Amino acid sequence: MNEEHERLRQKARLIHERLLDTYGQPERQRLDPVSELVCTILSQNTNDLNRDVAYAALRARFPSWEAVRDAPVEDVIEAIRPAGLANQKGPRIQAALHAITAERGRLDLGFLADLPVEEAKAWLTRLNGVGPKTAAIILLFSLDRPAFPVDTHVHRVTGRLGLIGPRVTAEQAHDLLEELIPPQDYYAFHLNLIRHGRLVCKAGRPRCELCAIREYCDYYQRSTIPNGLSTEVKETERR
Ligand code: SF4
Repeated sequence: MNEEHERLRQKARLIHERLLDTYGQPERQRLDPVSELVCTILSQNTNDLNRDVAYAALRARFPSWEAVRDAPVEDVIEAIRPAGLANQKGPRIQAALHAITAERGRLDLGFLADLPVEEAKAWLTRLNGVGPKTAAIILLFSLDRPAFPVDTHVHRVTGRLGLIGPRVTAEQAHDLLEELIPPQDYYAFHLNLIRHGRLVCKAGRPRCELCAIREYCDYYQRSTIPNGLSTEVKETERR
């Protein structure tokens, strides 16, 4: 392990500890892996509230995932409309449920708990519409496997912090961040980064003046001017 890698590991650890101090230890909420897969497809390009309404509607309308799989697609689309992009997500959910059944003979992803994690990722990403983020969410959230999901918030915040380079894609960031963080911290670090990205390190203008981890942040250090205030902060104060 080279010096730079060790420096980044230390930095990630400090950031993780500060985020825990700030936001606390996230509560674990566990769905079975098939439910998590459906939930993650529903969450694409929408917020948590709309996702949850659509997920609840789907569960209320159909007694099982087999029933969702075998229903007329129009019925699935109708149920998940609150999530948006229902015309894409409905067929995508059914295709994934059909693919699992075809490969495994039944709708069950529990076998992924016993595969080496790289094989489990490869299996999931062979399903149409399942990329590295969705695969990692299913493995980490449902099966407690060491996979680190990188969504848009995690990608943006870790990029600004300098844990990943400026040209690293979200897809590439999965493997890089897994090497910086101990597996037992993946869950809390992932969720606290998302929380930080939503509340403080926002997509448009980050609220650095409120940020608990700015002392570790490359973006903040770059924008710091001699009197100790960042140009971002000055901008904020002028508004
Ligand atoms: S200092 Fe600013 S850019 Fe850096 S993590 Fe905090 S809010 Fe984001």
